Amino acid sequence: WSEFFANSLNPQWQESYTIGRVALEYKNTYRLYTEQGELSAKVIGKLRYQATGRQDFPAVGDWVVIRLTNEGKQAIIHSILPRKSQFSRKTVGAKTEVQIIATNIDTIFLVSGLDGDFNLRRIERYLLLVWESGANPVIVLNKADLGEDIAEKREAVEAIAFGVPVIILSAVKNQGLEALTPYLKPGQTVALLGSSGVGKSTLVNQLIGQVVQAVGEVRSDDCKGRHTTTHRQLIPLPSGGLLIDTPGMRELQIWADEESLADTFTDIDTLAQHCRFRNCKHQDEPGCAVQQALENGTLDEQRFLNYQKLQKELHYLARKQDQKA
Ligand code: GDP
Ligand code: ZN
Repeated sequence: WSEFFANSLNPQWQESYTIGRVALEYKNTYRLYTEQGELSAKVIGKLRYQATGRQDFPAVGDWVVIRLTNEGKQAIIHSILPRKSQFSRKTVGAKTEVQIIATNIDTIFLVSGLDGDFNLRRIERYLLLVWESGANPVIVLNKADLGEDIAEKREAVEAIAFGVPVIILSAVKNQGLEALTPYLKPGQTVALLGSSGVGKSTLVNQLIGQVVQAVGEVRSDDCKGRHTTTHRQLIPLPSGGLLIDTPGMRELQIWADEESLADTFTDIDTLAQHCRFRNCKHQDEPGCAVQQALENGTLDEQRFLNYQKLQKELHYLARKQDQKA
């Protein structure tokens, strides 16, 4: 059988099919880690044709089946291997599409500050996002050097996080980071999630080591043939694990709580305060300041649609959470 099978395969295929992992996506060009080293790649036309949305394209973290071309200097991506976890975000254009941000993450470090930023409700929201992705959360409480009532805060977090590991550290002082090492072993992929200012970049720099980060730069051609510098988003760590650090994960953080939604759409928030009814849904209620602004053109319709979609998502998350409680 195996002989028959081997003979029926195109010998060219036998030689040239291999797998790789997506380290960077940039304008439909991919940067891959492969056994043959780092290669730039494009998807095969058929894959592009089959794709019904962005979710069918490779994302950072994907394992892909590739064929080498151009004397092994480039690769063509033929298919994406099944994902064990994925972070996605609904794009909020005229048509809702699911955009895959990162895949095959084993562990998410959910970072919060033990200082003024500490917020249990926000941690719950983030936990929900992580459970939905298929990755495992580890709660990291940073800024232990500044925090007060650390033991109490740990207890409060443990009470909402049934069995999720809670690690207390100080990224800036490089204290307590050894507790992260079980998650950073070879073969493990991690990513960080948390509001801005909690110390993610500081922690990433500690994990990577300042020197290695500069090496992570690659030059890519954009469509106009210019060279631009981009960062690999799947970053090898000295410990042998891999870290996913994509701008998309950072955007995910923006939408993860209602306060920041209001912060981002201050214009709509301000308008809403002038609606006749306090619980105005800005649909067809009389005296709606938002609808009025849409009519006289001071508020862009697309912007309002984006706001509504994100708000719906947040309500959906909050409802799911209430059902769990
Ligand atoms: P990010 O927005 O989550 O990436 O947060 P940054 O890494 O940029 O950190 C935000 C601020 O918090 C910076 O001023 C850091 O120096 C500070 N910071 C980060 N980690 C710690 C820590 O463990 N202790 C203290 N005191 N400050 C920290
Ligand atoms: Zn209104």
